[in-house]
Amino acid sequence: MISSSIAISIKKINESRISEVNINEAPFGKVFTDHMFIADYKNNEWSNFRIIPYQPVQMSYAISALHYGQAIFEGLKAFKQDNGNVVIFRPKENGIRLNKSAVRMAMPEVPEGVFMQGLLQLVSLDKMWVPSSEGGSLYIRPFMIATEEAIGVKISNEYQFVILASPVGLYYSQPIKVLIQNTFYRSVRGGIGYVKAAGNYGRSLYPTKLAIEKGYQQILWTDSATGQYIEEAGTMNVIFVKNNTLITPELEDTLLSGITRDSVLKLASKQNIPFEERKISIEEIINSIKEGSLTEAFGVGTAATVAHISAIGYQGNEYVLPPIEQRKYSLLFDKLLRDIRKGRVPDEFNWLVKVD
Ligand SMILES: *Cc1c(COP(=O)(O)O)cnc(C)c1O
Repeated sequence: MISSSIAISIKKINESRISEVNINEAPFGKVFTDHMFIADYKNNEWSNFRIIPYQPVQMSYAISALHYGQAIFEGLKAFKQDNGNVVIFRPKENGIRLNKSAVRMAMPEVPEGVFMQGLLQLVSLDKMWVPSSEGGSLYIRPFMIATEEAIGVKISNEYQFVILASPVGLYYSQPIKVLIQNTFYRSVRGGIGYVKAAGNYGRSLYPTKLAIEKGYQQILWTDSATGQYIEEAGTMNVIFVKNNTLITPELEDTLLSGITRDSVLKLASKQNIPFEERKISIEEIINSIKEGSLTEAFGVGTAATVAHISAIGYQGNEYVLPPIEQRKYSLLFDKLLRDIRKGRVPDEFNWLVKVD
């Protein structure tokens, strides 16, 4: 795809709000930077590229995103390196995935140039909002919604593509307990599980609430066809370590293809750590924990990077994994990814895009 140059109009805020918040201690997703990027889609084309002060906007309650769910999003992060540079981690991958989601939801694709320039100019303008703390980052949320004012199920003729940015202070990823779920399902074959469409998340909240009531933080989702094979952990991909080999569910249309998952597998290859992408049954997980061959389980995703799984619940039993301090692989990947992002080791895969 050719990234042609676009003209973005910029309306800056009069006075930054940054002094009102401690960006190094901001809770996840609750504080937004001074500006946001918006593009409009109308008459079959993208136009009106603009960066304006972050603010509520006026919209009709009849917009189709609210009624029929034409709404997709992405999540990525910018980091402040030890030398003060600001970098974004693998943003082109998010642009590609956004378009995959757009196609599935019958929404227009966003040209790479619009995605990248909107992103880079916004982060450049709000650079001082990128936390410098060890676990801190700027979480970036690009999304697209159907904005045609029309009630009636049909493909919307109008859309907005928006990018928001939110400083995330020390992200303590506490170990999580996960509950295997095979009554409710996150996605189905032929459905939208492989894309980041809003509807996937709405449907997951009720089963998650039931798991929380039982003392778990997330669900270990299984496949809806048989209920026997593990797919994802909450809104993260999941990786297990069995006999010193990483095992992770193979990608299908019921799983989201995570960029963190891909990064971990590429790092594993580089380090000569064996990995397998294949079907993993509930039975295999439980038996391997019992016999002691399964030593680690962790979720991987942009928000937490690595979320250690301390225990897995299934049918009233709880299967406890070895203590976090003994986790050789998940701790290694967490550190490797941090070192790359913080600029402490060379960026051998060219994953970082520098913000001017
Ligand atoms: C976003 C997401 C992931 C993780 O993807 P990353 O690109 O690593 O952030 C995994 N599973 C689901 C369901 C997701 O929505």
